[in-house]
Amino acid sequence: MHKDLPPLTALTPEQSEIQRTARAFAQSELAPYAAEWDEKSFFEPSIVRKLGELGFLGMLVPEAYDGLGLDCLTYLIAIEEIAAADASTAVLMSVHNSLPTQMILNYGTEQQKREWLRPMVRGDKLGCFALSEADAGSDAASLATQAVRDGDHWVLNGTKAWVSHGSDPNAVIVAMARTDTSDARRGRNGISAFIVTPDLAGFRVSKKENKMGLRASPTVQLSFDNMRVPADRLLGEEGQGFVYALQSLEHGRMGVAAQALGIARAAVEASVAYAAERKQFGKAINEFQAIQWKLADMATRVHTARALLHATAAMKDRGESPGAYTAMCKLVASETAMWVTTQAVQVFGGYGYVKEYPVERLFRDAKVTEIYEGTSEIQRVIIGRAVTE
Ligand SMILES: Cc1cc2nc3c(=O)[nH]c(=O)nc-3n(C[C@H](O)[C@H](O)[C@H](O)COP(=O)(O)OP(=O)(O)OC[C@H]3O[C@@H](n4cnc5c(N)ncnc54)[C@H](O)[C@@H]3O)c2cc1C
Repeated sequence: MHKDLPPLTALTPEQSEIQRTARAFAQSELAPYAAEWDEKSFFEPSIVRKLGELGFLGMLVPEAYDGLGLDCLTYLIAIEEIAAADASTAVLMSVHNSLPTQMILNYGTEQQKREWLRPMVRGDKLGCFALSEADAGSDAASLATQAVRDGDHWVLNGTKAWVSHGSDPNAVIVAMARTDTSDARRGRNGISAFIVTPDLAGFRVSKKENKMGLRASPTVQLSFDNMRVPADRLLGEEGQGFVYALQSLEHGRMGVAAQALGIARAAVEASVAYAAERKQFGKAINEFQAIQWKLADMATRVHTARALLHATAAMKDRGESPGAYTAMCKLVASETAMWVTTQAVQVFGGYGYVKEYPVERLFRDAKVTEIYEGTSEIQRVIIGRAVTE
C-alpha cells in the first residue's frame, strides 16, 4: 500500500495469487466504471458472471460443490481488493459468499447443496439474504413475515426490507419467516429459513431504494403475497432459521469489515497521491505537517483495522470461534472507513466535495458499513456483553 511499508500479514503464495487476481480484475473491470455506475445508480449484470468465472462467488464453498474451498483470510483479502475499486461490487460478493451460500452449505440437505450451490458458485444464480423488515431491523427477531404449512408447500406472507440484489432475475434468496406464532415462542424461536426465487407465484419486488451510497448495488423491498414455497425449500430445521442467520452474520460482519477496509484504503491512496500533486503557497500540500499528520493517522487506522481483521480471520481458519472479535472487526473497520474518508475529503479541499474525484463517492459508500449487518451500536452491544458477562 505504501512504498516503505511491507504488508503486515505474511501471505502464502496462493493468497498472494488470489490478491493479485482480485486486484487486476478490480482495477481493469470495476475501477474505470465505478463513478459512472454510481452516478447512474446502475448495476452491471455481467459482473456476476465474471466474478463466477474467477471463482469469487464460491470462495468458501468446498471443491465438491465446484467452489474454491479457500480459507477465510484469502476471501477477505479478495473483498478488500474489490471494495478498493467498487464498494457496490464488494457487497454483492460479501453477501453472496458470507450469507446464502454459507447457510445452504452449513444447514442444507445434500440435495439442496447439489441443487443450489453449483449455479451460485458459477454466477448463474446470485445469493441474497432477506432477514430485515421495515419494523424489524436491529431487532430482527421481531420479524412479522409468516409461513404456514399447506400440504407439500409453505405459504409465505409478508414484506422483507433492504434486500441487496433481491430484484435480480437470478436471485436465490434465503428468507427468514415465522413458522410458529404461538405466544410462548415469539421472538427468535419459531423463525425458519426458506430458499426463495423470483419465479414463485406471489413474489414481487415492491420498492427500489434510492440510496446515499452503494448506488450500483440495488437494494429492494420484497413482498410475498400468498407465495407458495415448495416444502423442500425449507433450509435446515424448522424454527432454527434465526439461529442460522445469526451464525452466518458472524461471517458477514467480517466481509463488511473487509469492504470497509477497501474503501478506507482507496481513500488513503487517493489522498496520498493528491497531496503530492496539489500545490498551495508554492509547495505540495503534503509538505504541510497538518496534511502529513492527517495522512499518517489515516494510514495508521487502516493498518490497525486490517491487523485486527486478519488476526480474527486466522483464528477462524484455525478452527477456533472468534465470537465477539468479529463484531470488533466490523466496528473498527467501518468507523475507520467513515473517519478516513471524511479526512480524505478534507485533504482534497473543495475538490473532495465534487464528483470529479473519487473521495466523494468513497465518503458516501463508507457510511453504510456502520449500518448494515448490525449497526455500530449493535456491535458495541455484542462486544459489551462479551466483556462484561
Ligand atoms: C444499503 C443497505 C443494504 C442492506 N442489505 C440488507 C440485506 O441484504 N438483507 C437484510 O436482511 N438486511 C439488509 N439491510 C438492512 C440492515 O441490516 C438494517 O438497516 C440494519 O440492521 C439496521 O436496522 P434499521 O435500519 O431498521 O435501524 P434500527 O434498528 O431502526 O436502528 C436505528 C438506530 O437505533 C439504534 N439502535 C437500535 N437498537 C439499539 C439497541 N438495542 N441499542 C443501541 N442502539 C440501538 C441503531 O444502532 C440505529 O442507530 C441493508 C441496509 C442497507 C442500508
